Amino acid sequence: MANIYYDDDANLQALQGKTLAVLGYGSQGHAHALNAHESGINVIVGLRDGSASKAAAEQAGLTVKPTAEAVKEADVIMVLLPDEIQGDVYSRDIAPNLSEGNTLAFAHGFNIVFQQIEPPKNVDVIMVAPKGPGHLVRRVFTEGAGVPCLFAVEQDASGQAEATALAYAKAIGGTRGGVLKTTFREETETDLFGEQAVLCGGVTSLMQAGFDTLVANGYQPEIAYFECVHEMKLIVDLIYEGGFENMRHSISNTAEYGDYVTGPRMVTDETKYEMQQVLEDIQSGRFAKNFLLDHRVGQTQLKTERANSDRSLVAEVGSRLRKMMPFISNPSS
Ligand code: NAD
Ligand code: MG
Repeated sequence: MANIYYDDDANLQALQGKTLAVLGYGSQGHAHALNAHESGINVIVGLRDGSASKAAAEQAGLTVKPTAEAVKEADVIMVLLPDEIQGDVYSRDIAPNLSEGNTLAFAHGFNIVFQQIEPPKNVDVIMVAPKGPGHLVRRVFTEGAGVPCLFAVEQDASGQAEATALAYAKAIGGTRGGVLKTTFREETETDLFGEQAVLCGGVTSLMQAGFDTLVANGYQPEIAYFECVHEMKLIVDLIYEGGFENMRHSISNTAEYGDYVTGPRMVTDETKYEMQQVLEDIQSGRFAKNFLLDHRVGQTQLKTERANSDRSLVAEVGSRLRKMMPFISNPSS
């Protein structure tokens, strides 16, 4: 059984009297900065010159400084920049301004595991990785709850790295949901595998293939969209709330029988073999290398794939149908 830490297991004291620099004000950055600020931590936001986020951070009541200056002033530096640019920003703005006893923190182990960042031995290196998108890390915190987090210590120069990581997790609301101890390697490899094989890549490829099969057989694309894309959330919500068994309890016996006999025909030995290959590409660094190479050539592949996806039939049909259901994108209204 994993060790899980809650509010009572963490003490904000490890961050008191210290300055926290949050670098980046995107999905995770705005959530960490605002939550920690409201938890009484002295926060500064580090942004590049001319950053579009500067006004938003200042309007929210936060102090903004140029990245290098924020690092110089801070005791704890949380790096919440896109993974593919962290290495360059580290060399240029972070490394020259780190001092002995500082804590370098991440929300994903990518740059440490794949050696894009190699911190000096005299700083602590920790990770606090929320297991949810940044906007939820913020919203759930304002509702008095918290998104569960993973935490890890890669380097413990001070002997206090674990206490700092737990305090950080508490400051952003993570210990309200539960915080699990992991390593940089385990977090990075499982995170990349999960998003590629199951959560993002796996799910969208499955929905796309189902949609295509129905459309190719002459069924209306709108019906194919409702069946293979739209309903996914309703099913996943039941799993989220009560596991597979809760979902199977809610659906008809017809659907449940079909689930058992057909599901395994969709994920074949060939698919499982491919999953193993995907994991090995992640473990060997091959995926990371390709991702970083694409970044170096102006994200050619990423942008091409994005453009193709944006003009596909499923995107066009979905966009039309969702316009008729304004309550979907704005569930509280
Ligand atoms: P993001 O793309 O939403 O935001 C990054 C921010 O960095 C931008 O808003 C901007 O303020 C700044 N930035 C962008 N380009 C820059 C540049 N060239 N130079 C300097 N600053 C620049 O990033 P994110 O999704 O919040 O990811 C940040 C980290 O958090 C990553 O390590 C990611 O793996 C991790 N993470 C993200 C999520 C998530 O839900 N998005 C979940 C868990 C962990
Ligand atoms: Mg992820």
